[in-house]
Amino acid sequence: MESGTAETRVGESGAAGAEAIEVRNPATGDVIERVPVDPPARVAETVARVRAAQPEWEAIGIEGRYHWLGRLRDWILDNRGRILDTMQRETGKVRADAANEPAYLADIINFYGTRAAEFIGEEGVRPHTPLLAAKKLRIQYRPHPVVGIISPWNFPLILSLGDAIPALMAGAAVVIKPSEFTPLGLAEVVEAWKREVGGPDVLDCVQGIGETGGALVDTVDFVQFTGSDRTGRKVMARAAETLTPVSLELGGKDPMIVLAGADLDRAANAAAWGGMMNSGQICMSVERIYVEEPAYDEFVAKLAAEVGGLRQGADDDADPRDVGAMTSPNQSAIVADHVEDALAAGARALVGGKRADGPGDYFEPTVLVDVDHSMKVMRDETFGPVVSVMKVDDAEEALRLANDSRYGLSGSVFGERERAERVARRVECGAVNVNDVLVNYFAAGVPMGGWKQSGIGLRHGEPGIKKFCRSESLVITRFGGKREPSWYPYTRARRGLVGRLMRFFNARDLRRRFGLRP
Ligand code: NAD
Repeated sequence: MESGTAETRVGESGAAGAEAIEVRNPATGDVIERVPVDPPARVAETVARVRAAQPEWEAIGIEGRYHWLGRLRDWILDNRGRILDTMQRETGKVRADAANEPAYLADIINFYGTRAAEFIGEEGVRPHTPLLAAKKLRIQYRPHPVVGIISPWNFPLILSLGDAIPALMAGAAVVIKPSEFTPLGLAEVVEAWKREVGGPDVLDCVQGIGETGGALVDTVDFVQFTGSDRTGRKVMARAAETLTPVSLELGGKDPMIVLAGADLDRAANAAAWGGMMNSGQICMSVERIYVEEPAYDEFVAKLAAEVGGLRQGADDDADPRDVGAMTSPNQSAIVADHVEDALAAGARALVGGKRADGPGDYFEPTVLVDVDHSMKVMRDETFGPVVSVMKVDDAEEALRLANDSRYGLSGSVFGERERAERVARRVECGAVNVNDVLVNYFAAGVPMGGWKQSGIGLRHGEPGIKKFCRSESLVITRFGGKREPSWYPYTRARRGLVGRLMRFFNARDLRRRFGLRP
């Protein structure tokens, strides 16, 4: 598949001056649509428009906002087939993988719709000292007025609307810039919000590449970015110019540890699904597997059999497939490079190992063994249907290798439960699944975010909505005379009074309370 013509700049992140994005179906290579690029002036106009509507959106309160998002949920559920068709057309996903997108959105609308009051409702705080007994302390959470979301191509709806939903529930207006590879599905839902749901004018999208994304960073009050750490750095640097806060969900190189004593059928099936689901194009895909020596041979044989049996290609109801296409030609080249680098350095492909024949852009589901940490496939994010397996002496070596990464997004440990749990607590990353893979993303109650270079900030749970808010503390005087003891005039009696009271309440023994040495 070619990327970029005179008219397009697909794949050249940051390129300016493109007039239209050429969208292709990765499963066939066919151009399916041309989408006009929004220049910076149009981004500014869009942000200004939703900004004007935001105060009223905030004023209708949590119940009012859930009413509208509930209507969006119903539209999503009623139009599932249409959404899946578009997802498949622009990403080349198989239908089973595409089905996660509307399902997640409906779930996350209900999650934040029913918990927003608990997470961002006004809080009362008890004064920590008797000196403030006359004060009422409150914290209210007010939204950043406009949140800008910049999203990648691997889950075009989950990684854009999935963040827009808590931002909207918080009372913010939202403008999303989807990936240039997958602009269609999001535009369809945003259009439905406007025309079919009839929602307030607080949700829109702008289309383009780096220039459009940069313009969005310049004009919003909070940036939610999901993408590569390379672009994440650029976004953060740009946001620094306007001191705009950012939340970054970046890449991963997720390890899986298989301990002796694990259910090896479950572990191998999980590794195959966790590594190949969405063609391995998930930030949390299983990419590196460390297996304790006694379990190694049997685990590898089971994994190779499971992956070897996967059916790849463009699927339909009559002929369902397990593994779809590579969505971005750039990523497809990276996957091929990592595998070739490993094979040249002595790794062996037990299954797959190369690009599949066209039409469309496919990489064969691949299992590599005889790998080590000098190879790109064990160090850099591959983001394709490739899992690499290493034999280790024991759990200590597995942990040392699992933690030997600049990434720290998530991971998994398989084994007898108590031992696996002990090992899981020592993996250096934002979330660990014990005897499962990827499932933490669907556990909306627990936060998810990267350690090290996998990101800054959290998604899901209470932090996943609170980050879209600014806290405002209210210190309210319930009663008081004409003056506080600390105010003027500093008479002889008053000048030391506050200090003496502070001493009295903070000293932990009687003598010190009265200024005496013990
Ligand atoms: P990318 O960084 O190339 O692009 C992400 C987005 O940033 C796109 O919309 C792109 O147009 C935009 N962009 C590019 N240059 C920009 C600039 N200078 N200023 C502002 N915006 C700019 O990432 P990608 O290839 O689309 O996605 C794959 C990456 O996303 C992988 O690294 C993957 O791990 C990561 N990812 C992370 C998570 C997570 O939750 N941690 C989830 C999914 C994907």
